[in-house]
Amino acid sequence: MPAISDVLVIGAGLAGTAAAIGLADGGIGVDLIDVKPEVGAIGSGITMQGNGLRELRRLGVWDAVRAAGYPFDSLGLRAPDPAGTLLAEIPDARTGGPDLPAALGLPRPALARIMADRATAAGAKLRLGTRVSSLSQDDGGVDVVFSDGSAGRYDLVIGADGIRSATRPMIGITDQPRPTGMGIFRAFGPRPASVTRTDLYYGGPSYIAGYCPTGENSLYAYIVEDARDRSGLTPAERLAAMRSLAEAYHGPWDEIRATLSDPGTVGYTLFEELVVPAPWNRGRVVLIGDAAHACPPTLAQGGAQALEDAVVLTELLLSRDAVDDDELWSAFAARRFERARTVVEASCQLGQWQLDHQQGDVPGLIAAIAALVSQPA
Ligand SMILES: Cc1cc2nc3c(=O)[nH]c(=O)nc-3n(C[C@H](O)[C@H](O)[C@H](O)COP(=O)(O)OP(=O)(O)OC[C@H]3O[C@@H](n4cnc5c(N)ncnc54)[C@H](O)[C@@H]3O)c2cc1C
Repeated sequence: MPAISDVLVIGAGLAGTAAAIGLADGGIGVDLIDVKPEVGAIGSGITMQGNGLRELRRLGVWDAVRAAGYPFDSLGLRAPDPAGTLLAEIPDARTGGPDLPAALGLPRPALARIMADRATAAGAKLRLGTRVSSLSQDDGGVDVVFSDGSAGRYDLVIGADGIRSATRPMIGITDQPRPTGMGIFRAFGPRPASVTRTDLYYGGPSYIAGYCPTGENSLYAYIVEDARDRSGLTPAERLAAMRSLAEAYHGPWDEIRATLSDPGTVGYTLFEELVVPAPWNRGRVVLIGDAAHACPPTLAQGGAQALEDAVVLTELLLSRDAVDDDELWSAFAARRFERARTVVEASCQLGQWQLDHQQGDVPGLIAAIAALVSQPA
């Protein structure tokens, strides 16, 4: 008999929807809330690595994800020269196993809808435009008051509300994300035929310029620079700034740049990192995903790590008969903390070598992380 019968999941991102799917499939009553008024309204693309695809398959959404995305098995390295010369084509590790692609790009809104639809089909009750106003717990459960004035009592609350989690301070965890010193322009648009995998251009006026196909007719492209306060830019100025940086990159970038014309498709984000020390719970409230650990996207592992948290937590909750049990939370930390911390640190290291203009062992570090995440979570 599982330790819990009613759970509140705060945040319907990757971590929250994955937890909701697993728990609802296991017969647990799940309320899933998100502050946003709509699921998957807008957004760029995401690269899901094989180990993330393995968890999506376990959650029963692989067919839908495969149909919505664009798989690939290698990484291209190109020079920031007038021809965009292809320097190397490196086979990517199939970290999810030989029967899954090494990576798959897909539009974030499509992934968000697939996950939310699967969670509600499993029985989770999704309420949008809702946040938690207060949480208080005793030995038997957690009392929650919502922003619409309603209230509920749950056996467990899962804070999956992202890097700026409001749940984190509510349970007395004061750790905050830290900027790593880089910022990224991202845009989405049509896929030229020449883009069939991720290519990275190192150097030129920026640290990295790259792109990832997300479907037959779509891709996202990005340029990484020193962190700058670009918050005052209008959408048109943001587009102009990205186009200007992209002038240095050629080959497929020439075709991508030619389609970069809609200011509404360009965003700018600072890279941040966070590792909340274990344990990630305080009593019956636990953090997962970016709320607990977040990394710059240099390894494109944040989404996969969020999914792994959710799947491991679900497995433990469904197999334990007490939630107020240190053994449960020790087991969760043992399976998740070191792995997530190692991924965050490696993601930061890759950026730091560039910031320091230092030649680190990039292939060695990437191979070490691939070996780590190839192991089941
Ligand atoms: C620029 C950039 C590029 C990235 N690229 C990749 C990539 O290619 N591949 C990859 O795997 N990872 C990538 N990541 C990381 C990845 O996006 C995250 O690790 C992943 O989305 C974390 O999922 P999550 O569910 O924990 O959090 P989120 O996706 O942030 O979801 C949190 C949810 O909680 C909701 N929420 C927030 N506050 C509240 C509240 N108070 N109450 C209720 N709901 C709330 C939000 O609306 C949101 O829906 C990237 C990150 C960045 C910054």
